[in-house]
Amino acid sequence: MKPSAFDYRCPDSLEEALALLAQYGDDAKIIAGGQSLMPMMNFRVVRPTMVIDIGRLLELDKIETNADRDLRIGAITRHRTLESSPLVRRCFPIIPEAMGHVAHLAIRNRGTIGGSLTHADPAAELPMLVRLLDGQIFVRSVRGARQIAATDFFISPLTTALSSDEILVRVDLPGLPHHLSAFEEFSRRSGDFAIAAVGVVLIIEEGRIAGARVGLMGVGETPVRSVDVERVLVGTVGDDGVIKQAVTALRDTLRPRHDQAASSDFRLHLSGVLLERVIRRAVSQGTTSHGRITI
Ligand code: FAD
Repeated sequence: MKPSAFDYRCPDSLEEALALLAQYGDDAKIIAGGQSLMPMMNFRVVRPTMVIDIGRLLELDKIETNADRDLRIGAITRHRTLESSPLVRRCFPIIPEAMGHVAHLAIRNRGTIGGSLTHADPAAELPMLVRLLDGQIFVRSVRGARQIAATDFFISPLTTALSSDEILVRVDLPGLPHHLSAFEEFSRRSGDFAIAAVGVVLIIEEGRIAGARVGLMGVGETPVRSVDVERVLVGTVGDDGVIKQAVTALRDTLRPRHDQAASSDFRLHLSGVLLERVIRRAVSQGTTSHGRITI
């Protein structure tokens, strides 16, 4: 199918883009990489009469950091840039690892972080990473600017806290001390959206896990964190017994969704398998020949 008729603008400044969005209201749609919007327009799931291309807003196309390793990522940063940037790898190695699972190279060359977060597919990698890394999302409209914590941003599948006159301009990821991390995903074919995926970040102090974050995607209406598993991991060395307890805690608390791609039981089983793998892999990166974890 082809999209219904629409007008197209490609503003040179954020102010111009915001003014257009305010003027056309619900009839307008921002286009960034177009990798989700164009299929939805072609299927006529959405029928904007005005499409506003933010591709020329180069102020939204940068990645910056500081001495605390906080990362500021502009909204039109491409998936492929996140996958290949040495700066991103240095601050959060889990990002490039997970980005390799997003669709195919051609899509990663076009898709943007702002587009992925706004599209809010529950099986998408970036929403989960931003939730896992306690991201803050910065948005602008002609009414002003606001900051939304990732915890509050994702509301349900394809629905976020963004208003129709707002543009997502930047994502901030607060820096972490040196840490261990791993990401594992299961999809039926390479490049497909995940049936389930798990990411873990472990902060190590004095040979023990001092802080743990566990994020999952594909299993709920939005990306989720498992506080119960995080609690099991903290204060331990992440050995076999702890991993078993962590998997039990996950399976006791997670109630995955059921859809045509997989049953809830299959997702629950998969989540436990993937959790075991990520903890084992993250811990092994820091395990010395004396069996102690360090970094
Ligand atoms: P667009 O398509 O341009 O926009 C998406 C939505 O976000 C639209 O509603 C648009 O109005 C809005 N929007 C975009 N930018 C902004 C902004 N800055 N402010 C406000 N609103 C904005 N994704 C995955 O995560 N994992 C996968 O495995 C995966 N597989 C895919 C497989 C295929 C075959 C395809 C076609 C896509 C796949 N995707 C996958 C989606 C892909 O990652 C998209 O690029 C991404 O979801 C949207 O980014 P975009 O820049 O292309 O956004």
